[in-house]
Amino acid sequence: MYEPEFDIAIVGGGPAGLTAALYAGRNKMRAVIFEPKAPGGQLLNTELVEDYPGFKSILGADLALAMTEQATLFGTEMSPAGVERIRILDDGMKLLETDHGDVYAPAVIVTAGGNPRKLGVPGEEEFAGRGVSYCAVCDGAFFQNVHLAVIGGGDAAVEEGLFLTRYASKVTIIHRRWEFRAQPILVEHARRNPKIDFLFDTVVETIEGNGSVQALQLRNLVTQKQSSLEVGGVFIFIGFIPNTGLIEGHVDHDKAGYYITDPMTMMTSVHGIFAAGDVRSQLTRQITTAVGDATTATIAATKWVEDWRRGRDDASGELAEATARGVV
Ligand code: NAP
Repeated sequence: MYEPEFDIAIVGGGPAGLTAALYAGRNKMRAVIFEPKAPGGQLLNTELVEDYPGFKSILGADLALAMTEQATLFGTEMSPAGVERIRILDDGMKLLETDHGDVYAPAVIVTAGGNPRKLGVPGEEEFAGRGVSYCAVCDGAFFQNVHLAVIGGGDAAVEEGLFLTRYASKVTIIHRRWEFRAQPILVEHARRNPKIDFLFDTVVETIEGNGSVQALQLRNLVTQKQSSLEVGGVFIFIGFIPNTGLIEGHVDHDKAGYYITDPMTMMTSVHGIFAAGDVRSQLTRQITTAVGDATTATIAATKWVEDWRRGRDDASGELAEATARGVV
């Protein structure tokens, strides 16, 4: 058997990946974290973070920077390579094909996050970057004194809708149901904001414009009535599609495509492949849950690598037994 360069490879540099890098280094694992973009993940698309313990309020970019600096303090390597494929070899070793070459590691922690879900209506693609946006922090400032629409009813839609009021003359949040999925405190803030109004039970049928967005064609799902709303931009926050296509072969997942993991260890159905953060099937996806998942995943991955090195075929069984006894 040959000696791989790393014990643990971490795929993705958001809060989960950066936490995994920190813990892997502290566990004295030879670890690498792959992130081709600026580390920070969704933190970089978030203006203010107010629900990360220890900080009443911190800029997403500042938290990303602090997490990035800490991630490599204990020896984990940071690589700008993009992982293109993760293959499972016959001896349980994982081969990561990256755009900088192949890397081998017995354990992999997938913290690859996801991409915004698209509405899939006419005009969305045509006006992308010309009034259609998926990132308020990135594009909000281009819309000074403009009436904007925000699509969605989850935390992202309401939070980003609130953020956009600092630039927009008005923000209309358009949601396909009458009830929000977002946390009540966010909804309360939005309801109190004089710049925000709501259209419920309403979907966007077409995004129209001439060079840039000018109007939305809408339909009320209860009355079936169609209407037009003049806006200068539309921000779409209708959820996330997890980046779970990297692993070759089958990995158990839920119906939305998120990895199903063992709650004790964060291990996926593939031995030695763990998942943390937004790629994992769970009730909610917060920064706090991402860092918690990653802590568990990295401690479990460390134990798994140690067992695997001892030549146990059933390293995952051993790990499950140990967690059940409360010794991991
Ligand atoms: P989400 O919670 O999945 O909400 C997506 C929203 O978009 C839902 O209201 C959904 O409507 C709507 N939607 C989905 N497909 C649609 C379509 N084709 N057309 C129209 N509307 C559609 O997604 P998210 O808001 O992006 O949040 C993702 C995760 O990140 C969540 O777990 C969230 O809690 C977390 N997050 C947390 C914070 C925070 O804590 N501050 C901030 C941002 C995100 P229905 O409700 O009818 O399904």
